[in-house]
Amino acid sequence: MDPWKSISGLSQEECRASQSKKLHTFLNQYIYPFSPHYRALFDKHKINPKKIKTISDLKHIPFTSKADFVESDPKDFVLQPDADKIKKAWPLPKISQMAFQKIFRGEKYLQHNLSKEFRPVFMTFTTGTTNKPVPFFYSNYDIKNLETSGARLLGLFDVDQNQKFVNMFPYAPHLAFWQVVLGGFASCNLILSTGGGKVMGTDGNIAAIEKMRPTLILGVPSYVYHVLRTAKERGINMDYMKKIVLGASKVTTAFKIKLAQLLESMGARDVSVFGTYGFTESRAAWGECPTALDISSGYHLYSDKEIFEVIDPKTGEVKGEGEDGELVYTSLDSRASSVIRYRTGDFVKGGIVFGECPHCKRITLRISSDITRLSDVKGLNLSKVKGSLVNLGNFAAIFSELDLIEEWQIELRKKNNDAFDMDELVMYVCAKDNCVEEELRNEIVKVMSLATEVSPNEIIFVSMKEMVARLEIETANKEKRIIDNRPKA
Ligand SMILES: [Zn+2]
Repeated sequence: MDPWKSISGLSQEECRASQSKKLHTFLNQYIYPFSPHYRALFDKHKINPKKIKTISDLKHIPFTSKADFVESDPKDFVLQPDADKIKKAWPLPKISQMAFQKIFRGEKYLQHNLSKEFRPVFMTFTTGTTNKPVPFFYSNYDIKNLETSGARLLGLFDVDQNQKFVNMFPYAPHLAFWQVVLGGFASCNLILSTGGGKVMGTDGNIAAIEKMRPTLILGVPSYVYHVLRTAKERGINMDYMKKIVLGASKVTTAFKIKLAQLLESMGARDVSVFGTYGFTESRAAWGECPTALDISSGYHLYSDKEIFEVIDPKTGEVKGEGEDGELVYTSLDSRASSVIRYRTGDFVKGGIVFGECPHCKRITLRISSDITRLSDVKGLNLSKVKGSLVNLGNFAAIFSELDLIEEWQIELRKKNNDAFDMDELVMYVCAKDNCVEEELRNEIVKVMSLATEVSPNEIIFVSMKEMVARLEIETANKEKRIIDNRPKA
């Protein structure tokens, strides 16, 4: 069955009407009665959930931010029904149905069904660099939703049941790994989940690929690239490979092309590279559909599972279709940890559009894939280096344009390791074999000072082996691209 069937093809009015209806039901039958956090929030702001009837009424509900998870107990976001609350919140037909179940199937049967719907059985954690990790819980109901989004993603990537995958996302309590595993279960595809470099090592991952001969591999961009590059060095042929799915990091067009060219140099033809978007709090991921490498279709949304708004990050005002702003997520069909108007901290250029996707022809909502983490800009990545404010996130875009750079790392440190001394920026580079070091050095200084107004104090050329160790590509969940070793004053 086409997992997109129920949501693709509605008109914009039908889509909004169905979302509004779901929102009203979800707030009145699940969020307000069962969520300690939102019940307190609604009461504090004197919000009557019965009066939230349409998407446009959402603006009356205050935002939820990352800070709310840290300040309050994460369990307060978990839906916690009991017999009394259910009786008060649910409509009569639903209550009668439960009464019948109790009479004919017994109390245990009823309790088991409720447990399957509400009881947390699984969790993942947020992976922020600055905040403490926050757990997000799933019930069996939410696991089913994770299967649905997984099946929809695979439908989007246009893969059939005969295709085999190798999943190289790190084995961790993070969304990406489990989204792939559950998606494979739902769509009946054979997947080998290697757990990434930390679990099986690069040799193990390459051996797994050679054995499985998958048409599709999935993983974190830097690690997928590392595995393919290492395989290429060993002269391995991968002509069976068709598709690469990347997650957990923003992917530039230049990177997609670089990856496809690498695979094509190993015998593959017509390689597609897909980006995905997701976050711990959504407990689902969204993806792109097949296009030429230099075009992004945007991420296709699930109108029956969530509402996305785009807001002005300064004023909180809701923006119109296609307008830039911060993405705000509201769940429509979740149990266990549930969030309403959650500010993602992600800034989207090109906003959200409704209509027929020019590439896969599905009629649906799509978010532009030009998304930057605002939290990166505010936190670690907008850094005062040598007295200039530098958006460290820009480096990735700058250096992916320089073809002679294989891998790079930036280290920020203080002169003499003294907190009060000057900032120093050291760049480590692993260059292609045909590179003339002096020329590349000059080129790096040029593009870096143009884009960021700072230039490196030192550029150190290192071997690939050393670079892989420096970046911790094989061992960390995410590579250490920029390290800040400046001691705090
Ligand atoms: Zn599409």
